[in-house]
Amino acid sequence: MNVLYNIMGLFSDMNIETYGFCNRQCSFCFNYEKYPQREKGIMNRNTYYKVINELSLMKFAGRIGLHHYGEPLLDKRLVKFVKFARQKCPKSYLEFASNIDFLTEKKLRDLINAGLNKIVATNYGDVENSNILKLVKKYPKFINYRNFNDITISNRAGALFNCKSRIQNKPCYKPSNQIIINWKGDVVLCCSDYNSNFIFGNVINNSIRDIWYSTRFMKIRVILKKRKGRTQIEMCKNCDSSPNKSTIITIFIKMCKNKIKKYVRKFL
Ligand code: SF4
Ligand code: SF4
Repeated sequence: MNVLYNIMGLFSDMNIETYGFCNRQCSFCFNYEKYPQREKGIMNRNTYYKVINELSLMKFAGRIGLHHYGEPLLDKRLVKFVKFARQKCPKSYLEFASNIDFLTEKKLRDLINAGLNKIVATNYGDVENSNILKLVKKYPKFINYRNFNDITISNRAGALFNCKSRIQNKPCYKPSNQIIINWKGDVVLCCSDYNSNFIFGNVINNSIRDIWYSTRFMKIRVILKKRKGRTQIEMCKNCDSSPNKSTIITIFIKMCKNKIKKYVRKFL
């Protein structure tokens, strides 16, 4: 299905932040008090329903991640939201990333029954939580568990100054593939755009499709797909994010698409 979305030039991946607060303050995250803090709040439920209804009309069958920089398990509406997304987009892949501080077996079972596919769970604590480990063992299909030591820390577009990673100048395909909606309903550049440096539109008053195909968003994708294109964008020039497997597949599909277009044009 992702192949189909890529051929249509549409995103196959969405992060939607229903809850903008996190209980933790990890030193490598924008939520750490040392970094400039964004305005925090929670998404209006009608905004969430509007987005999911639009995805439903598109027959969206890609990935929907219910997170950005807030902790999803703090959102009391989470089970309801997962259930709604599952009903409206039955073929989508529903997941969220969590610090699992608030995960209980009951909550997990409710989420699974509502239609959740996976929790990407990271233990940011110093010690392993034995209750969580039991859950991971009992529900291996539903929890992708990792320890803090297992993760690669990103410099978050160069904004996290205590992270010394290698700056990339390769093309970036993230905004061509993924749409990020923060708790306000703003569509921002990518998952590193905590401070909403780029806002391409707000989903409350605009359709996701119109925002996705807006001239400004399209232009920035063209720049980022060029070699060294990142150097033309202030926010991107110090970013260490490299193309992942799915973006490499996207590149390949787009190359094939262009070849097919050229071939068809030849015979018209
Ligand atoms: S738990 Fe996640 S979102 Fe919260 S501060 Fe840590 S890294 Fe950031
Ligand atoms: S280069 Fe980095 S900051 Fe820019 S869009 Fe890509 S991932 Fe985001």
